[in-house]
Order: sequence, then C-alpha cells, then structure tokens
Amino acid sequence: MQCPYCGFNGSNVLESRDARDGRATRRRRECLGCKKRFTTYEEVKVVELKVIKKDGRKEDFQRDKLERCVEKACWRIEEDGRERMLDEIEMELLNWPSVEIPSQEIARMLMMRLKKSDPVAYIRFATVYGDIKDLKELERLIKLFKGGKKDD
Ligand SMILES: [Zn+2]
Repeated sequence: MQCPYCGFNGSNVLESRDARDGRATRRRRECLGCKKRFTTYEEVKVVELKVIKKDGRKEDFQRDKLERCVEKACWRIEEDGRERMLDEIEMELLNWPSVEIPSQEIARMLMMRLKKSDPVAYIRFATVYGDIKDLKELERLIKLFKGGKKDD
C-alpha cells in the first residue's frame, strides 16, 4: 500500500475494523518511510463468475452446485477435506483470467485434486467427464495408481 504523503511502498497496520456494514475493512496504517498515518478501505468485490457449458450456454457459477457434484464424486473424503477442495477451486476460479470459465476447466481443477486425494473418485469422475476415453486409458491409470502406492 503506497503512502499518500511520500509514495513509500510499505506500511504497518495499526488497526483493522469492519466498515460499511462488514462489506469493507478500514485500516489505520503508518508509513514506514515518513511515519505519517493514513486510512485505507479494502472492499470485497463480488465477482460474478459464469460457467460456459459444453454446448456453449452460459450460466451463473453456483458454489452449491459444485459442492453437490463434489459430494457425489467423493463421499469418501471428509467434509473438511471437501470444503478445503471447494475453497481452493473457488480461489482458482477467481484468479482465472476471465470471469467466464469453461465447465471442462472446472472439471479439470476438481479432477487434479481428486487424483491426489481419492483415486477411485477420480476414476469415476473422469469416466463421466471425459478424461478417460477408453478402457486402455482406464487400465493405464489404475496401473499408475497401484504403482504409486507404496503401502499395498
Ligand atoms: Zn510516507
């Protein structure tokens, strides 16, 4: 955060509190350069994400829809783990260069995570959403997972 007095890029936060009914955070800062104090407001922007479906239609991104999808695919993973996975995906979506995201990309993000945490769920999901196109591919993946696990 740049100091409005001297332009120095560095400050200590002296105090943070909610402002504008919780939609913003007011911070009292002290410039590390000139020691003058100033106030900043950080506002949370509501980003309207859109999902581009395979047939080209667009719909609003709904976290609970993705949540249900994750729940169905990986009921083996504890709720905490699923919640974390959703948070990560949502973060990745918000960092996506566009506010419109192809549904295959969201599926890919989910699959990448499933691959690590729940191979069975991954295989099931990938069969439906297209990562696995034939039996050969499926066999190759199963071998890969078997080989990757040292404890069985
Ligand atoms: Zn300053």
